[in-house]
Amino acid sequence: MKLNGTSSSTPLNGASANQQEGVHTNGYSRHENYSATADQDELVDEIGDAHGASSVDTPMRPDAFDLDDELKVDLIEEHFREIMNILGLDLTDDSLKGSPRRVAKMYVKEIFRGLNPANKPAPTLFDNKFRYNEMLVEKDITVQTYCEHHFVPIIGKAHVAYISSGKVIGLSKLNRIVEYFCKRPQVQERLTVQIADELKKILETEDVAVIIDAKHLCVSTRGVHDVNSSTVTASYNGKFAEEATKQELLRYVTQPSVTI
Ligand SMILES: [Zn+2]
Repeated sequence: MKLNGTSSSTPLNGASANQQEGVHTNGYSRHENYSATADQDELVDEIGDAHGASSVDTPMRPDAFDLDDELKVDLIEEHFREIMNILGLDLTDDSLKGSPRRVAKMYVKEIFRGLNPANKPAPTLFDNKFRYNEMLVEKDITVQTYCEHHFVPIIGKAHVAYISSGKVIGLSKLNRIVEYFCKRPQVQERLTVQIADELKKILETEDVAVIIDAKHLCVSTRGVHDVNSSTVTASYNGKFAEEATKQELLRYVTQPSVTI
């Protein structure tokens, strides 16, 4: 079957399938300083599978925004073309030739746009005129982010709750804040804490909770190939750390949502 491509076989770049290991074509050869041993590869895999985050802040270099977005797209396009070339794909094929630029634009302008603080949503706050002093829970917020160890999707739901200290936030802003921190290479633990910290700051209260339940495609489509498991992370702060408040939140989160 043909799917937009010019050929029904994957367009490879002249590389023979039974090419001997160590024989390189197209001018590529193993870097002379290449020294990763099997043990080191295993350690890298283990760090990826452990999914530990090194810090609450996304690790960024100080010069992260010296390049503008257009230049980043151009450079990533160039490098992604090289990745495809190295894989042996034929970049003159109609189906593939646009992929490096497509991927570069997707990285910079869509799925990793939350790396840039300039894209952080401006909070819209209102006075708590109704004197509503109970918890507000926004549940089932869509989570679509990317595992920073494998660069494949993490898909799930976030439940966000706060108790007003005098200010309330527009409901859609809660979704926007979750979305902003999702648009980065992430680990789920860090994503959870980053959302909670941002809400604490904006709402000027410690009484914030965030729960995320998500499936990691690096667990389901590779490695252990477990399609059923999901990962739950939570950040309970202020009054939400108290058992009764936490239980009330969990009741709201687990009860079926209204259907309209
Ligand atoms: Zn992963």
